[in-house]
Amino acid sequence: MQYRDDPEPSYDPRSWSRPRPVPVAAPAPPTPPPVDRGRSRVPLAASAAIALGGAILAYAARPAGDEAVTPGPAPTATAGTSYDQRVLNIAAPGAIAPTLASLGVAEDDAARAAQLAQAALGDTPGLIRLDVTLADATLHAVTATHVDGGGVVIERGGDNALTAKPLSAKLTRRMRFVRGELDGESFYSSAVAAGVSDVLVGAFANAFRYDFDIQREVSAGDVFEAGFEERVNADGEAVGAPRLVYAFLSTPTKTRALYQYRLPGDAEAEWFDSSGRSSRRSLMRTPVDAARISSGFGMRGHPILGFRKMHRGTDFAAPTGTPIFAAGDATVSFAGMKGANGNFVRLRHDNGWETLYLHMNRIAAAIVPGSRVAQGTQIGEVGTTGRSTGPHLHYEVHIDGQAVDPLSIETGGGRAIPAAAMAAFRKIRDAIDAKRAETM
Ligand SMILES: [Zn+2]
Repeated sequence: MQYRDDPEPSYDPRSWSRPRPVPVAAPAPPTPPPVDRGRSRVPLAASAAIALGGAILAYAARPAGDEAVTPGPAPTATAGTSYDQRVLNIAAPGAIAPTLASLGVAEDDAARAAQLAQAALGDTPGLIRLDVTLADATLHAVTATHVDGGGVVIERGGDNALTAKPLSAKLTRRMRFVRGELDGESFYSSAVAAGVSDVLVGAFANAFRYDFDIQREVSAGDVFEAGFEERVNADGEAVGAPRLVYAFLSTPTKTRALYQYRLPGDAEAEWFDSSGRSSRRSLMRTPVDAARISSGFGMRGHPILGFRKMHRGTDFAAPTGTPIFAAGDATVSFAGMKGANGNFVRLRHDNGWETLYLHMNRIAAAIVPGSRVAQGTQIGEVGTTGRSTGPHLHYEVHIDGQAVDPLSIETGGGRAIPAAAMAAFRKIRDAIDAKRAETM
């Protein structure tokens, strides 16, 4: 599986030559320019891509003089003036000056417009839309925008000088929900098949790691829902990474619906049930990256010994390298290679319980005897060292020195949202529920 680290949508240059909707360039509805139908024009070929100075340009041009389409900033109407408008995508702000020059803009105008645009846009590479209006082959206006709609309008004023006006991003929020069934392979394949963005699958699967032993308590056919919020630009295109706001999982014995909420004063959001109780527990039920657990929902057999007799823990089958997390706040009591256990970590938790992690491929450098770890800290990665036939985490919980079935223990209730924040939480919860009822 792959995570996409880049929070921005990626643009495939091959897609640039497809005709795109032409953005409305000006913030206010401008007056259409006078149309001179009597003059002949060379229409720009839609979708004709040219390469220039390393920047790939795509023309999403419309026939000049088309009254149905609103052009950029309102030109100062002058009878007989010939207007040409072109919309192009360029790879970075640095390509503005050569692009304008290639359209026939005078060198000093191109340089001045590029200077103004770059001051507003910054030099960060990334797709820029240019909406260029020429009046009698002289630069009249240019709108340069990021994909979110934010950018700048540069216009020639009455004094003939080019001036810049900022354009704020025009983004709206949209909430979407998907529902699916687990396919018996992994959260990853199930969620992606249902339409969950791969950026969100990790967060989605890990939302349940306090409530479900994902290896043993979750089976093919169990139902899940994911709700996420995304920002969309004026063209209805999603901008930036979506954000998971709702996670639901239902098995024959347990159903959980979780809402993302950030408590006032907290740096990060966490998951709460509908009554405002945190999903966090003193121990995680699934101390590995849940999205990567593979080929084993409901798996009960031990790869070597069989589950019933000698086995005292839970095996989480996952690819080598999958992160393993401290199940709770603890002190490291052992970290190193130990016979059949392979690379092995033993944690002593503050209530006296212990958790054991076997067969690791690698133990994190900071995990040494005596060191403190916080719940959720990565302590190593899945491997197959020691007596093991394939990559998995063998996980045990010990209470009073005795191994217990991790599923049998009560791991405590999460903290509740303070009364003062409940109204804010309920508002978010109800908005999610209302949207979900509307769309599911
Ligand atoms: Zn095992």
